[in-house]
Amino acid sequence: MHYTSLGVAFFTAFLTLIPVAHSESSDVATTEFTAEEFVVANTLWTLLHETAHVLISELNIPVFGHEEDAADQIATIALLHGATDLGVPESIPEVNAVIATAQAWRIEWELEERDHVQAPYWDNHALDIQRFYDMMCLLYGSDPDKYKEVEKQLGLPYQRAFSCADYEHEQARSAVNRAMEVYGRLYESDNARSKVRVIYEKLLSEEHQRVRTIVEKSGVAELVARHLQRLVALPNDINIVFMACLGNETAYWQRDRKEIVMCYDLLERFEYLYQARRCFDTPGLSEEEMDECLIRKRD
Ligand SMILES: [Zn+2]
Repeated sequence: MHYTSLGVAFFTAFLTLIPVAHSESSDVATTEFTAEEFVVANTLWTLLHETAHVLISELNIPVFGHEEDAADQIATIALLHGATDLGVPESIPEVNAVIATAQAWRIEWELEERDHVQAPYWDNHALDIQRFYDMMCLLYGSDPDKYKEVEKQLGLPYQRAFSCADYEHEQARSAVNRAMEVYGRLYESDNARSKVRVIYEKLLSEEHQRVRTIVEKSGVAELVARHLQRLVALPNDINIVFMACLGNETAYWQRDRKEIVMCYDLLERFEYLYQARRCFDTPGLSEEEMDECLIRKRD
């Protein structure tokens, strides 16, 4: 294994054969997804975010600022760069995964605004709308000519767009590559590589079964597990566990148990956000019609 370019190799390797979205458009505002593609794309980004926590924690990578921001950057850089580094064609499904995830953060924010939910300024995560703009910033900064519509259509203010293109994207990308070059080597001499397993725990409802089928069929968790196992010599075995979380729509890295927990409830939330996005995109709805549209529908 060649670790010199581990940063690129590790993340580019995630980006082959990921069945996310098929649109060839780089038109961010109008990129279309099916509900399944939207769920898979958000699941993939979330898995990469949690993988970033694993790397930070297991390899003892120093973090400046909030770890949550670092994990967001690592996940987004991972998706933005593999395809271009591998020289695959212009239709970059991984970029669509970034777009789908950014859209999800934006929809969460719009729903909070609509429900007058107080923004959690105290949280260790950035606000949902900030996470949206931070992702758009990295997308725009990765190729300002190609993604100039990000600035136009989504209102990325030119002051921010300038710094995205000037240094923010490059700084994030080189930090990821540098961290993996330095810390990815630590266990290089270990012959016994760690194992990364994917576990789908017992189900509680039909809804959970449905989202499980979508994600399992896509193979994204197995893909992330395979590449994590192959490309980074972690000191411990890791499990990626899909489980029911009693309504908690979340995912997290459980350091003591060496588990990435992916809640089926979160995957269901991704389905709902797709539904909500279609409501917000429908022109001319009255308040009542919007309320009706936003009531959770299940097939
Ligand atoms: Zn996190």
